[in-house]
This record gives sequence, C-alpha cells and structure tokens, in this order.
Amino acid sequence: MLREAQGRLDVGELAEQQQLLANLGALDFLKAVLSQSGPFGRVAVVSSFGAESAVLLHQVAAVAPQTPVIFIDTQFHFDETLAYRDALSSQLALQDVRSYSIDPLSQKRLDPARTLHFTNSDRCCHARKVGVLTRALRDFDGWISGQKRFQSSSRAGINRVDWDDERNKWKFNPLADWRSDDLEAYHAEYGLPHHPLKQFGYSSVGCAPCTSPIAADEDPRAGRWRGTQKLECGLHRNPNIIAASVA
Ligand code: SF4
Repeated sequence: MLREAQGRLDVGELAEQQQLLANLGALDFLKAVLSQSGPFGRVAVVSSFGAESAVLLHQVAAVAPQTPVIFIDTQFHFDETLAYRDALSSQLALQDVRSYSIDPLSQKRLDPARTLHFTNSDRCCHARKVGVLTRALRDFDGWISGQKRFQSSSRAGINRVDWDDERNKWKFNPLADWRSDDLEAYHAEYGLPHHPLKQFGYSSVGCAPCTSPIAADEDPRAGRWRGTQKLECGLHRNPNIIAASVA
C-alpha cells in the first residue's frame, strides 16, 4: 500500500528515521533510502537538471541507476537545460529518466497564450510545476531532491529526512548540508560536466523567462524571479508540518 494511502506520518516515526540516517555518508544514505527492502517504499529522484544537479545524479547512478528520475518540463526551459538533461543522463547511464509536462487540456484552460508567467508567476508555477510533480509522484511513496541549505534563506532549515506534508510522502534531501565548495570538489573529482549556463553566471537555472545571472556577491538563487518577492516555485514547502499520528 502506498504510504500516501496510510495517512499522515507520526512525528515519532520521522524523528526515528532522521536519527537512524543522520550520520550516514551520501552514498550510504541513498542506499538506505532506495533499498527495496527498506521502510520507505518506492522512491523517485526529482531533478531540474540545473546548475547543481549533477552531484546527486552521479551518486544515484552509483547506487541504483534504475531509480526513476523525474524531470518537470515546464516547456519554458532553456534549450541548454534540455541538452544537459540528455547528455548527463547518457553519461551517467541513468536508466529511467522521465519527463512530465502540463497536460494539453490544462494548458489550454490555464495558460492558452503562454503568458501566465508575466501576470501571475505563482499560478504559472502551480500549473506547470507543482501540479505536474504531484501527478508524477502519484505512484511513489517518497522523493529525493537536491536541495541544499546554503542555496537560500528559504532552504536554510531543510532536513536530510523530511516529510512532504502536501503529498503525504517521504522527502529526502541527501545533500542538505553540502556547501558550494563540496559540490565543486566533487565535480572535479569525478569530472562531472557543469550546466552550460553556469559559466555565464547562472548559479541556479530555472525557466528561461524567470531566470537571470547573478553577481558574485548575490545569493545563489537571487536570479530566480528577480525583482519580485517570490523565492520558491512551490515544489518544496519548508518546513514541513508534521501531523500527529492517526494510528
Ligand atoms: S518559473 Fe516562470 S515560466 Fe516556469 S513555471 Fe514558474 S512562473 Fe512559469
């Protein structure tokens, strides 16, 4: 039975898993999370194939290359991102990369002229990202993200083991405590390619209309929705609120 169907998570169960996995290195953490016989059920990776995606994907490929990798194609990505997705997937021999987009009927109803991002970016993100991810995760009990605490103030409180309260699923952030230097060192050690736009100052890469390069002294995500108060697309709700047990 899917975890989602079992109801919300007991706060004690979350704390127990956080403690059990707390001191595991990145690969052992992923092995525990992706174990077929473990407590977490079916778990997918969600990747934007953005500027900081390669490390997690390389680790997943080392541990379990058959793991489903979900890419949300908003249909507003840079061509470079789509090319990077294909090249990196091939280089890492990822076996199950799945791209999901808004369904045509919803697109026609919600954003027929493809201009919603100009007038209401929250609604656009909800239609093109949040709802699509919820659909993509329907058959999974949990998901792995590449979020790191250093990326922005809105991510400073994330845990390695969390609970997606919106979707009633496990949420894992294996690299939560990694720093920018750690990522660079890992890239160098394993010869991983960078996103092609990183060299042009894009330290975080999202949809083309909503992403700009940053200056050296800016927050890594400062180029996302520049000039607005918006910090996140809504895929990640932090911190997650843990419900009391219903058991
Ligand atoms: S980042 Fe911009 S274009 Fe992409 S889904 Fe959000 S508002 Fe729409």
